[in-house]
Amino acid sequence: MSKVLIIGAGGVGQVVAHKCAQVPEVFSDIMLASRTQARCDAIAKGIRRPIRTARLDADNVKETVALIRDFKPEVVINVALPYQDLTLMDACLETRVHYVDTANYEPRDVAKFEYKWQWAYHERFAKAGITAVLGSGFDPGATNVFTAWAKKHHFDELHELDILDCNAGDHGKPFATNFNPEINLREVTAKGRYFEAGRWVETPPLSESMTYDFPEVGPRKVYLLYHEELESLAKHFPSLKRARFWMTFSDNYLKHLEVLGNVGMLRIDPVEFQGQKIVPIQFLKALLPDPASLGPLTRGKTCIGCLISGVKAGKPQRMFVYNVCDHRACYEEVGSQAISYTTGVPAMIGGLLVATGAWRKPGVYNMEQLDPDPFMERLGKHGLPWQAVNL
Ligand code: NDP
Repeated sequence: MSKVLIIGAGGVGQVVAHKCAQVPEVFSDIMLASRTQARCDAIAKGIRRPIRTARLDADNVKETVALIRDFKPEVVINVALPYQDLTLMDACLETRVHYVDTANYEPRDVAKFEYKWQWAYHERFAKAGITAVLGSGFDPGATNVFTAWAKKHHFDELHELDILDCNAGDHGKPFATNFNPEINLREVTAKGRYFEAGRWVETPPLSESMTYDFPEVGPRKVYLLYHEELESLAKHFPSLKRARFWMTFSDNYLKHLEVLGNVGMLRIDPVEFQGQKIVPIQFLKALLPDPASLGPLTRGKTCIGCLISGVKAGKPQRMFVYNVCDHRACYEEVGSQAISYTTGVPAMIGGLLVATGAWRKPGVYNMEQLDPDPFMERLGKHGLPWQAVNL
């Protein structure tokens, strides 16, 4: 029996809180802490089991350490924002508590998607005897585990990996993002980048596309993006000759993105406005729909998976490992749409595998470095059934 401290009461935090509450045999006590306690309380009200809530500024290590010392969790699940990763890892080190997150650390002033800051904690976590699991969402997260599972059971060598992320959901709003708008727009407007023949190739933002026929969804246009799991997967599977990430965007989303970019609303540097400094993308976030409010509106499915090719016993092998998730079904179960759901379920499972010892290994790890089998077994059980098809 373990105590879990969930930090961040946004769309993903809501799912993690519901999902932890569904596993009382592992999570005996749950605390949800975030910057705005009212959001934690609203989430707690919708959960059948009583959970504790608290106000916390996760940028403040001292405050976080005090909360951890008071509640005494075995594991912290960080579903606040990537900016809080390092302060939360510092607090976990100081209190010797295991750590799980879903997105890599980003400095606020530059959209960099790199693991170097968090990998630098490895020795300190190993020495303290605690585990950090990085990127336990869907992508990164389940996609890393799909790749590791395919390698473990179906390939001697991986050669090519295409991670394909399709959101075929429709929320009926002219423009909205499915998770935190600031983080989402920083990611989408960054240069594309993929790994090929031992080096990284950069492309202008959203300049490369193709059509992929997704199971249960049909053909959709996908655009090449850089996504953080490419860095760790290329490092941990050195036989990969190419690794790319693709995501669907509707023409309507791209039209808005272009205009917002052209008028400067996606800038992440502060600008002077009426004697005050404002960051345009943060101001835009205040105007856009709260991703949590899209839950009741969104219809349709997501399909996210890994298209993997390589060799097994000297023969070429190609397979697609994927999950299909229905926005409406997620909302009916936990009150959130599928993007938050597909992130929150793996975050809970990461926390559960650390809490139960299956993934307890002192140090800082990406998901593909841990045994994929217990994760794959749990994924279907907790709401994200997966398929693997040979192509
Ligand atoms: P939201 O913006 O909806 O929620 C973020 C929450 O964190 C809010 O409740 C916010 O508080 C809280 N927060 C922000 N700053 C602090 C702070 N300093 N101290 C305490 N709490 C804070 O984001 P999402 O739920 O959509 O996303 C959560 C995380 O999940 C993000 O890091 C995102 O990148 C990641 N993600 C990962 C995915 C994956 O597949 N790996 C996919 C989607 C998201 P307040 O309510 O006051 O604003």
